[in-house]
Amino acid sequence: MPLRRILPPLAVIVLVALLARAQTVPDARYWRLDDVNQQLAAWAAAHPELVHVTTLGTSGQGEAIPLVCISDHAAVREREPGVFQHAAQHANECNGTGAVMDAIARLLAGYGDDPAVTARVDGLELWFAPIVNVDGHRHVFSGAPSWADWRKTMRDNDADGEVDFPGDGVDLNRNWDWRWDEYDESDPASQKYRGPFPFSEAEARALRDFVLRERPLVVVDYHSPVTISWTDEIFYVWPSSPDHLIARDVALEWADATRNRHGDAYGAIYAFDTLPKEQCWVHGNTGILVFLVEIEDRCWFTGATVDSVAHRVARGSMTLLDRVLAGPGVRGRVTDAVTGAPLAAEVALAELDGGGIGPRRCDQATGSFERLTGTGNYTLRVSMRDYEDAEIPVTVTAGWSTIDVALDPIATAVDDPGPRRPWLDLPNPLRAGQRLTLRLPAGASVARADLYDVRGRHVTTLATGLAAASDHRLAVPRDLADGVYLLRIRSGASTVARRLVYLH
Ligand SMILES: [Zn+2]
Repeated sequence: MPLRRILPPLAVIVLVALLARAQTVPDARYWRLDDVNQQLAAWAAAHPELVHVTTLGTSGQGEAIPLVCISDHAAVREREPGVFQHAAQHANECNGTGAVMDAIARLLAGYGDDPAVTARVDGLELWFAPIVNVDGHRHVFSGAPSWADWRKTMRDNDADGEVDFPGDGVDLNRNWDWRWDEYDESDPASQKYRGPFPFSEAEARALRDFVLRERPLVVVDYHSPVTISWTDEIFYVWPSSPDHLIARDVALEWADATRNRHGDAYGAIYAFDTLPKEQCWVHGNTGILVFLVEIEDRCWFTGATVDSVAHRVARGSMTLLDRVLAGPGVRGRVTDAVTGAPLAAEVALAELDGGGIGPRRCDQATGSFERLTGTGNYTLRVSMRDYEDAEIPVTVTAGWSTIDVALDPIATAVDDPGPRRPWLDLPNPLRAGQRLTLRLPAGASVARADLYDVRGRHVTTLATGLAAASDHRLAVPRDLADGVYLLRIRSGASTVARRLVYLH
């Protein structure tokens, strides 16, 4: 190609590069923190039932981190699956903020008119934190020379009272207490500096505490790539997680519905569990499904592209909401059988267990749990300290299977079984020829005792018509196979379930 034909495009590239350098602040179409706060307040005023504005916590510099819930009764914690989406852990990755704001706008605009939108708002608890790293974000929009590259928090690493680039700040998404010791980015000047200790940053603690308190079903973290290694990509959990295939399925469907600025679909790829990132910590410690979205191939755009990038990601994210709404999965609520109080019990599906993930817990306020699954038969195991375990078979065909579980407090004293609890002396393991002793409290209804296998199939009835205020010695059939069983004693509305290991 002759040189004169290369020169004009080359000149254009140089000019564009110079103009980009000359830009002193992000494009005016990007959301500033003050604009986000104003817009959230305006939405709350216009839709008081649907919009509840609160804060995720307080930043390192004492600034409130905005958080909003969109739902049909937004200010009330309902028994609806939660989806928590947040952006700008990395201060200069602002396309996610645009996507989150666009998603809120489209949910509010379509509510009551578009049945699909109305179903999302009515059926889910939709949490959004548009800017997590509020301090770094302010710096980005301050016009400081380092604005376009400022990724980290504003921690003054060398305590010289000044903002130094790149010496100051901590990478929020390397500050989580997950394989933190193994991660070698301990140089404060690194863009991926892990911080002086795990959870040194207030913003990471705020995210962690929110997730532990609210137990959303899904967490989504929006980023944009600084280098071009991973572009237009949705990351899901690693292969050793029992949720890997379900997460992949969700991510593929979502990626397929999400377009980049050229009109091409996003990809889906799994992440490793090797970094001290939010994704690893949250999924590893709670089993919550976590996705990370790398929006486009860089951080900054100008003009109408800013809005169209946000718009396309927000539109794609509706696919995720629809999947959470539709299932399939298992959901329910765990309560104390005596008081009815919600319990933050551990909930597991035996067939989708392992990988060192969890424990998965019900949310504290309502005792509710949700888990996306495939279709099939599962065994729900519910446990909580000072309560009898429960094991319940669940069949998931399509949609959500709802299982509410009332856990019985463990009877503690032999002499004083309490006013209402049956007392059970159950040798565990139970050997052939051994008996178990059951005493029903005075005033209890006539009871029966049944044995189930681990898949929940009824094996045998040990006794019926058991009277209150007397001891009953129960034997299991001699030909019972060795194994694990569930003994269930029903008395009126009350049930006691206990795992029984039988050995010849
Ligand atoms: Zn990032």
